[in-house]
Amino acid sequence: MNEVFVFGAGASYASAGTPLGAQLVWEYHRDCTPLKRIDEWGIADTQEDDVVFSNFHKFLEVIERHFPQAVGESARFRNRGAAVYHRPEHLEAKEYSIDEILKLIQERSDNDDRKLIKKLIFEHLSHQFAYPHKLRPNELYQNFIDKVVNSKSKRTASIISFNFDLLLDEVQYFDYMIEFDSPHPSKRNRSADLIPFIKLNGSLNWGICWKCKRLSLYSCYIRRGFYEKEICCEENAKEPFIIVPYENYADKMKILWSKAEHQLRLAHKVTIIGYSFPEYDQKAIESFSTALNENVELQIVDYCTKSDSNVREKETERIKVKYREMFPHLKREFKISLDGFADFVENYQST
Ligand SMILES: [Zn+2]
Repeated sequence: MNEVFVFGAGASYASAGTPLGAQLVWEYHRDCTPLKRIDEWGIADTQEDDVVFSNFHKFLEVIERHFPQAVGESARFRNRGAAVYHRPEHLEAKEYSIDEILKLIQERSDNDDRKLIKKLIFEHLSHQFAYPHKLRPNELYQNFIDKVVNSKSKRTASIISFNFDLLLDEVQYFDYMIEFDSPHPSKRNRSADLIPFIKLNGSLNWGICWKCKRLSLYSCYIRRGFYEKEICCEENAKEPFIIVPYENYADKMKILWSKAEHQLRLAHKVTIIGYSFPEYDQKAIESFSTALNENVELQIVDYCTKSDSNVREKETERIKVKYREMFPHLKREFKISLDGFADFVENYQST
């Protein structure tokens, strides 16, 4: 039986506390700042912090330029002393999430601002998982591989992910199903027994030079500052190849989408973990609805913090209606769980 597992941000959050879309970049300082030394006059030494978070400071300046409501944030950061920078409540609306900011910046075709924000996405995610910030052990993905994927004949399992973090990549080698112009020498990317792992939004360890479009594969242990040293044509620093929603899908991604559709077409069972088909992911909704076989068994693993059975029933019904609308051609009942990724792995029965 071919089984496809589909991951979204909720899965990485459950496994290792990865920031969700709304927290990405904004909570970088809160997640990663070390305790500061206080001198004999009671003044915090922010020198190291200023260097580490210089790009974050620039980010706040960029935000001020694009959103009048954000004016004053870079000064607040500059004068933080020993305090941790917290985003003010009035900037918590959806329009200030990184996806939305990137969309706006793209419309205004501000290339330097776009580059800076991508750099910060990389910094936030890579810094958070480097010692000493690593708080959670990423156990769920490890258990998922041991208990779920490796319990099957490998050729029958494949993974599609909307996450560009490297949490699953750390656990074992996969076949990314994409051609690299220069693979990392220590990485065996192609082998018949590797599990297909299709990352539809790109990956932090795929580096691209936007001038010559060469794509390189790096180790998944790369850390912040890595890409500044990866210079390609005319001293252009490579960028992590991450495609956020709204961005035009580069030609390189088209092949990945068709490979994902191919896997979905072959699937007898598809399990969706921590992904909710948000409205802006129209491309995903279209692809799944063309590719899913009408007899496919569809399982949705979500997480509901409430224990009230009325609330849970309503939530289950809401999910059912949403999936019925998205994929009206599917014949079988959907299997919906609100007990999250951990429970799914724990109770997985191989069929
Ligand atoms: Zn180049």
